[in-house]
This record gives sequence, structure tokens and C-alpha cells, in this order.
Amino acid sequence: MAAECEQCGKKHLPPRPICDNCLSENFKWIELSKKGKLLTYTTIYVAPNQFKDLAPYSVGIVQFEKDLKIPGMIIGIPEDKIRIGMALIIHFDSIGSQETWHEWPRYYFKER
Ligand SMILES: [Zn+2]
Repeated sequence: MAAECEQCGKKHLPPRPICDNCLSENFKWIELSKKGKLLTYTTIYVAPNQFKDLAPYSVGIVQFEKDLKIPGMIIGIPEDKIRIGMALIIHFDSIGSQETWHEWPRYYFKER
């Protein structure tokens, strides 16, 4: 989901409390397609404690419709197969580390 400013129409992902275009605080939720494309990525070899078991892993910025972008972990694709511009899809799950993070739906990117 993204937030659309009800005053000027600007779309925000991730959502924010105040529109950076017109300073309105009035938003409505809009649902986006789960399909995006990879703009850039990096691979993490030295991970923070809660992700140590996953290292090495890749993190990328994925562009969705309406030019909206978010960062996230790329799962299930070996580093040497990751390509800028490749089609990815966002997935959600609720399994997370209990150490320092709250339990909430997590998202990650997989190959389409
Ligand atoms: Zn606005």
C-alpha cells in the first residue's frame, strides 16, 4: 500500500504523516501492483546481529508503478544472477527475529 495525498495527489511510499509537496496531513491508501523492477542493489557480507544467519544477502531498491520505490531484501536469487532492471515481485510474511524487532508483516523481493 502507498499513501496518496488528498490535497495535491502526490503518492508516498513508504507512507508519511505529512506531504512533502503541500504539507497536507490528509492521505488515502492506494493499493499497488506487487510487480516492480530492480533499480540497484548491494550484497551484505558483514550483517547486523539479527541478520547474521542470512549473510551474505542482497538488498535492492525496487521501483513500482507511479515511480514509487522502496528498499528491501532480495531472496532466492544468487548474487551472480541479480541484474539491474530485472523483474521482481514483492512477497510478505510475518516471521521475524524476536531479538530487537517487533513482529509485523515483513516484505522481501523475489524473481517474478
Ligand atoms: Zn500533497
